[in-house]
Amino acid sequence: MKVYPFFIPHAGCPYRCRFCQQQWVSGHSVAPSPAQVEKELPLLLPELGDGEVAFYGGSFTLLEPALQRDYLQRVKPFIERGQVAGIRISTRPDALDEEQLTLLQQGGVTTVELGCQSFSAEVLAAAGRGHGPLSAGCAVKRLRSQSLQVGLQLMPGLPGAAPVEALLSLRQALDLEPDFLRIYPTVVLRGTVLEDDFQQGCYRPLALDDAVELCAEMLWHCREVGVPVIRLGLQATAALVPDQALVAGPYHPAFGALVKSHLWRRALTTVLAVQPGCEVRVHPSDLSDVLGQRRDNWRYFEERGCCLTLRCDKGMARDHFEIEGRNYALQAAAAFPPISTLL
Ligand code: SF4
Repeated sequence: MKVYPFFIPHAGCPYRCRFCQQQWVSGHSVAPSPAQVEKELPLLLPELGDGEVAFYGGSFTLLEPALQRDYLQRVKPFIERGQVAGIRISTRPDALDEEQLTLLQQGGVTTVELGCQSFSAEVLAAAGRGHGPLSAGCAVKRLRSQSLQVGLQLMPGLPGAAPVEALLSLRQALDLEPDFLRIYPTVVLRGTVLEDDFQQGCYRPLALDDAVELCAEMLWHCREVGVPVIRLGLQATAALVPDQALVAGPYHPAFGALVKSHLWRRALTTVLAVQPGCEVRVHPSDLSDVLGQRRDNWRYFEERGCCLTLRCDKGMARDHFEIEGRNYALQAAAAFPPISTLL
């Protein structure tokens, strides 16, 4: 589904999470006024479309109710004309009481993204979130009762969080049966409290390779239960570079591609260990993920004395590969142990 985003950085939010710097993340420093949104929409939207206009980067339901209504009202005529199907907002899990929900529903909101980040009480407290792990479950229940679509956001690598915490939090997020997830490994942004922690040596972010490996495992579990992950890693913006917003952490402009390539590497490694071969066939659309960034996967196999020839075959199913005439599914070949074994 196409999303037409407007960024309202930090708007409405009375908190300051340790890692938060919405201006850097969104690439926008101020929220557009409702009138600006109305003016820009005709330039963005098709004549007919099933997308959603989104308000990201703040806690929409904590804006003044009159301002919320104004934003939503400006989009309404475009919904009525069929140019867009609905409205998506992001907010905190503890900012969805009955009144706030009614306002969203009356205003045409169809999807709500909740910044859960973690389901560990200790990690949430250390991040200064101001809500506990139970808020997400209550919010999802309320949203479901109004037939709203629900997306959950998770942040592996927060202070005090071991990799196993990310997997356990993922398990709890998936138990809530969200419509989709976003996974953003924690990075240290300039101007955040986390930057001070990092400079004082009190916080060490995940290394890029570790974050890729962890997120590959998370992605695999999501695919296993059919929950789409619509974003892996922060969206690249001009400011997300070391001399500006980025202080440290596992940021990469193509983080999602690194994660998918890691799954391919894992799957091929597993199969080649028991079924040696020299030719791998894949669908052409999978080629770049199979090869990896700058052919990293291929180099990885070459360095281990495994010289593979890659063949593109439009007859292959996506996310499948063939070695020596035998067909394998990426998901099955890259299997991870169940999260329950970590408990
Ligand atoms: S709740 Fe969201 S907008 Fe508010 S400080 Fe935390 S991350 Fe930033």
